[in-house]
Amino acid sequence: MVGNTPLIKLSDEITGTPGITIYAKAEFANPLSSVKDRLALSIIETAEKEGKLKKGDTVIEATSGNTGIAVAMMCAQRGYKCVITMAEPFSVERRKLMRMLGAQVIVTPKAGKGKGMVDKAAELAEKHGWFLCHQFETDANWKIHEETTGPEIINDLAKINAKCDYWVTGYGTGGTFHGAGKYIKENSPTTKIVLSEPGAAALIDSGIQTKRNDDGSPAETHPAFAAHPIQGWTPDFIPLVLEKGLAMNGDNKLMDEYVSIPDGVAVETSMKLARTQGILTGISGGATVWAAIETAKNSAKKGDVIVCMLPDTGERYLSTPLFASIDADMNDAELKIARSTPSFIL
Ligand code: PMP
Repeated sequence: MVGNTPLIKLSDEITGTPGITIYAKAEFANPLSSVKDRLALSIIETAEKEGKLKKGDTVIEATSGNTGIAVAMMCAQRGYKCVITMAEPFSVERRKLMRMLGAQVIVTPKAGKGKGMVDKAAELAEKHGWFLCHQFETDANWKIHEETTGPEIINDLAKINAKCDYWVTGYGTGGTFHGAGKYIKENSPTTKIVLSEPGAAALIDSGIQTKRNDDGSPAETHPAFAAHPIQGWTPDFIPLVLEKGLAMNGDNKLMDEYVSIPDGVAVETSMKLARTQGILTGISGGATVWAAIETAKNSAKKGDVIVCMLPDTGERYLSTPLFASIDADMNDAELKIARSTPSFIL
């Protein structure tokens, strides 16, 4: 069930650019509703092939949520114990879902940011000899996108005699950008790759280099990073998987264009997607569609096709700013009844 996610054509009502077609790749169609199901499958299967995992072993990972949910699913299915470290600010429904799938969740303090949860996972893996997924460093991350995500995009467009003029993505680990980007550049060299990040956490834009430990993990966080609402995007360091992707292709860099996402537009665009397209995606999906619309307005020409990523489902954000205006519209009595009613009886 992992992969082979559909491309959804967005209507002119949201794109505002008639003559330029934007397709969104619906990663919420994966079994646990995010792009990270691909990575979990790849990391666990690679470890099994390399003899690093046997039944009953413990798998540990640091994650903003989607990876943890995906890894917990794989562990439950294949008989591994699962421990997840996750920084406090990420949404509570993510923690609940991991626990539902049998994982132990360790919440790390907000002050330690993304690096705090990464350090905690490494410390526990070392201490107990657990298998650490290393999503920010491992080649198994980007390779699954080279094998699946990239070919799916190019092949699905070929079936309707279309080519991909622009491919738009953000980054968390950079696995999607590196792997799918590599495949797209090698197999569709005219495609321009657009990478985006929140204006509040402009790591690429400020040309930051991350100092690394021997295993490639970050040895520092960066002052250019500020809290931003796009969960799953842009940690407070440049992941090794992203760095390798950015350096690929020599002078013909993998990133052709860059879009900075201003405050507020990610949530606004996710809400518009829900209300004008019936597409329920997360905050990063809203940000990516906004970047695709910017690309349509500023770079593309009539007849061009743009593909952008929808990394996960909006249902993962019920307690976050994505639903804040919905909460505000529900009156206190309604919310109280909804929260206290133990079961639904007609
Ligand atoms: N959006 C969301 C919601 C995510 O959880 C992630 C992964 N952390 C991404 C986008 C980015 O994916 P990648 O790690 O492949 O860069």
